[in-house]
Amino acid sequence: IIRFDRVSKRFGDFTVLDNLDFQVQPNEKVTIIGPSGSGKSTVLRVLMTLEPINEGVVYVGGDPLWHEYRRNNELSPARGAHLRRMRERLGMVFQQFNLFPHMTVRRNLTEAPRRVLGLSRAEADERAHELLELVNLGNQADKYPGQLSGGQQQRVGVARALMMRPRIMLFDEPTSALDPELVGEVLKVIRQLADTHDLTMLMVTHEMHFARQISDRVCFFDQGRILEQGPPEEILSSPKEARTREFLHAVL
Ligand code: ATP
Ligand code: MG
Repeated sequence: IIRFDRVSKRFGDFTVLDNLDFQVQPNEKVTIIGPSGSGKSTVLRVLMTLEPINEGVVYVGGDPLWHEYRRNNELSPARGAHLRRMRERLGMVFQQFNLFPHMTVRRNLTEAPRRVLGLSRAEADERAHELLELVNLGNQADKYPGQLSGGQQQRVGVARALMMRPRIMLFDEPTSALDPELVGEVLKVIRQLADTHDLTMLMVTHEMHFARQISDRVCFFDQGRILEQGPPEEILSSPKEARTREFLHAVL
């Protein structure tokens, strides 16, 4: 459902993604781990078309995300209706919750689907209500983000990403901005989502215990490539590569 085909991404002389080949199957739960600067967030940002690439092709649901047309040595993103259709397939949860502070929780959820999908207020409110229930925030719809704890805000972030009914959910270190005692409630919601919904999940996390529980596959990124990948038991317990061992030793 996701495929990176020889994708390269550079910032000036610095290569962030280096001829990357990477695939995710429908409903697969994949965790990306790796050192800072190895390109983990860039993979997710490219999928959200927040970041252009220099070489290669990225497919989402079989369709290329970027056109071949080149300008300034970058491949230009899909446009218009095609781009909207691609975006609807993906929901993303960011490290910083990225909620609109001046909108209630309900409006944070309903704004995009009303505008993009043309849902009526009633339809959007109904969907928001269901998803807030799912993340155990059924009674918080009229609050503002500033009135919620970090863990609650991030659960709103999860609900908001689900509003467009994406097939694919991307998580970029969803708990690393949280106080330790709030991490559990967010991971629990994500785990529950993985167990109960037909979703493809691609996650960047430093929570190795969580990665072990939830992932079908763990990918270790190093310098813009996948150095090794496999089932979590294998990669997290007996990695083959010295760099993976060093990394795990440092984070565990
Ligand atoms: P972390 O664990 O710190 O989040 P990461 O693996 O997510 O790291 P990326 O955010 O993908 O790493 O960034 C990869 C590299 O690209 C970093 O070294 C970063 O400094 C660089 N980079 C990212 N965005 C830009 C930019 N807009 N301009 C220049 N360099 C950038
Ligand atoms: Mg990152």
